[in-house]
Amino acid sequence: MQPEKKKGVVLVVDDTPANLSVITAMLNHGGYEVRPAINGEVALRALAAKLPDLVLLDINMPGIKGYEVCRRIKADARTQHIPVIFLSAADNLEDKVEAFRVGGVDYVTKPFQVEEVMARVNSQVMLAQQRQKIETLMSFKDELLRTVSHDLKNPLHNIMGYTDMLMENIQAGAVDIADSLAIVERIRRSSDVMYHLVVTLLDLDRLEGGIRLEIRPTSLNQLLEDVFGQHQLAAENKRITLEMQQHDAAYVVPVDPARFAQALSNLVSNAIKYTPEGGNVAVVFGHQDNKIIIRIMDTGYGIPEDALPNLFKKFYRVNTVQHRREEGTGLGLSIVKAIVDLHGGDITVESEPGKGSVFNVVLPLP
Ligand code: ADP
Repeated sequence: MQPEKKKGVVLVVDDTPANLSVITAMLNHGGYEVRPAINGEVALRALAAKLPDLVLLDINMPGIKGYEVCRRIKADARTQHIPVIFLSAADNLEDKVEAFRVGGVDYVTKPFQVEEVMARVNSQVMLAQQRQKIETLMSFKDELLRTVSHDLKNPLHNIMGYTDMLMENIQAGAVDIADSLAIVERIRRSSDVMYHLVVTLLDLDRLEGGIRLEIRPTSLNQLLEDVFGQHQLAAENKRITLEMQQHDAAYVVPVDPARFAQALSNLVSNAIKYTPEGGNVAVVFGHQDNKIIIRIMDTGYGIPEDALPNLFKKFYRVNTVQHRREEGTGLGLSIVKAIVDLHGGDITVESEPGKGSVFNVVLPLP
C-alpha cells in the first residue's frame, strides 16, 4: 500500500516532553509529519536545516523564549512566510497581543482541545499552501508576459522597420518591384512568426484547460504514415531519412486522431529540426504489457542532461549554438505533453549529446 501523502510538516516547539509527545501523536493522527524541538535553540537549528509548513510554538521556555524565536523566524527572508501558532499556558490578553505583535498568526491556550488545535493548524497550513500557489502562479504569469512580449517584440520591430523602408521608397519615388517584394516577404515572415506564437499559446491554453477529446479506435500505422507525409519535404531538404517500423497488423489505439497526430507531428518535426544534414529519424512502436509504446528516435544534437528536467516547460529552449540556430517557440513539447496527459499517457526522453535523442510516448490500453 502507498503511504498516505502528508498534509505538511509541522515543527512543534515545547519544553515539556509530555506536551511534545501529545501534540506529535495528535498531528500524526491528523496526517502531518512532525518535527519536535525541546527548546528555542533546537527549533532555530531545525528551521535552518529544513523548512516546515507551520510552527507550533510554546511561549514560556527556558533559554530563547517563544516570542524571540518567532521574531527571528519573521526577520529571516527564508522563513518569514512560515505561519507560527503560539501555545501558552495562560489565557492572558497581554500574551495574545504580544503573540500577534511578533508575527504569530494564531494562538492556542493550554490545556488545549485536540479538535481546536487541529482545526487551527489545518486552516493555517491550507492558507499558507494557497499563498504559495498564488505566488508561484504570479511569478509564472510575470515570466509568461516577459517571454511573450519579448518573442513578439522582435518580429514586430522587424515589421516596423520594413514598412518604414517601403514608405521611404514610395515617398522618394524609388519603388523597385523586386525590392519591394523582398521587403513584403520579410514582413510576411515576421507576421507568420507572431501568428504562430499566438495560435500555439491559445491552443496550449485550451489543452491545459482540459478540452474534451474525441477518442475513437485509430490505426497508429496510418496516423504515423500521415505524420511522415507532412514532414517528408523538410526531411528531404536536409537529406534526413525517415523510417517507420512496419507491422503486418494494424495497431488500433483509442486516441483523438487529430490531437494525437498533432503530438506525434511535433515530435517528428523536432527530431528533423534538431538533427544535422544526412541524419536519420525513426519511429518504432509496439505493445508492452497493457500499453503501447511509441519511440521517436533521431541521430541529432541530443539534449544536455541538465536541460532534460526543463524540456517540457513552456518557452524552454536548449541553449546551445546548434539548438539556437533553429527557429522555435519553446511551446511544442508543452503541447505534446498536454496532449499525452489528456490521453492518460506519459512521455519520457533519453538523450546523448552529439548522438541523438529518443522520445518515448506511453499510452495505456483499456
Ligand atoms: P521549439 O519550438 O524550440 O522547437 P519545443 O518545445 O518543441 O520548442 O522543444 C523545446 C526544446 O527542446 C527545443 O528548443 C530544443 O532545444 C529541444 N529539443 C526538442 N526536441 C529535440 C530533439 N529531438 N533533439 C534535440 N533537442 C530537442
